[in-house]
Amino acid sequence: MVSITFLGTGGGRFATIYQTRSTGGMLIEDRGRIHLDPGPGALTNMARLNMDPGFTDAVLISHCHPDHYSDAEVLIEGMTRGGINTRGLLAGSVSTIDGIDGIRPAISDYHRQLPSRVLSMRAGDEADIAGMRTRFTPTRHTDASGVGAVFETSAGTVSYMGDTAPREEVTASHEGCRVLILNVTRPFGARLRCHLCSEDVPAIVERLRPELTVLTHMGVKMVEQGPEEQALRLERMTGSRIVAARDMMRLDIGDSLRVNAPTLL
Ligand SMILES: [Zn+2]
Ligand SMILES: [Zn+2]
Repeated sequence: MVSITFLGTGGGRFATIYQTRSTGGMLIEDRGRIHLDPGPGALTNMARLNMDPGFTDAVLISHCHPDHYSDAEVLIEGMTRGGINTRGLLAGSVSTIDGIDGIRPAISDYHRQLPSRVLSMRAGDEADIAGMRTRFTPTRHTDASGVGAVFETSAGTVSYMGDTAPREEVTASHEGCRVLILNVTRPFGARLRCHLCSEDVPAIVERLRPELTVLTHMGVKMVEQGPEEQALRLERMTGSRIVAARDMMRLDIGDSLRVNAPTLL
């Protein structure tokens, strides 16, 4: 059984500033535990769910925007038991790990030396991340070095497209996914450049035909419009199963896919 816990389902500047939804990223648990994109609220929500950051095996940061990395340094301290045990993996885009084009690295020199391994990932790279074969995928976003990821879990392929504009080559890099996680920042009729909006979802879902699509990384307008209604409309358009994630929701992936209601809010 693989599980994905959504420690936050908000994204974009204002949903992050005002915490319209939390922005703590997600935990993917299979043979090990990956914390993907630990933005503001990651540690607070782990505490609320009684989940120990010390059991984190890998911290993965898709790009150098604070809704994806701001809690990462403290999380790395948790993963390494206060910086005492050298263990775990830190992986991220070139901007996050090394800095690029005037973007400083998101992680300090001190915190980069705490994990056992640090990987700076480009689209097309592959790595073993907490026991999961992981392939990094391209994005088209304001951080040009941003990546998405395809995880080969023991329950099939889980795809995370990351923050991106809709592009053919981005969609094509996620062929064969069983579960597709999309950062859909805006609802129908409120396009925002460099991000996915509800309008973009049908073409992606019809091309990839995943068993389940999960919408997350919602901006203020998306939350105001009602993400569940957006998901329902998209389900009717595509005939495919589409769920709007909620903070603290857990998805269990086994022979079947089970969406568990938030345990705390
Ligand atoms: Zn974002
Ligand atoms: Zn971004």
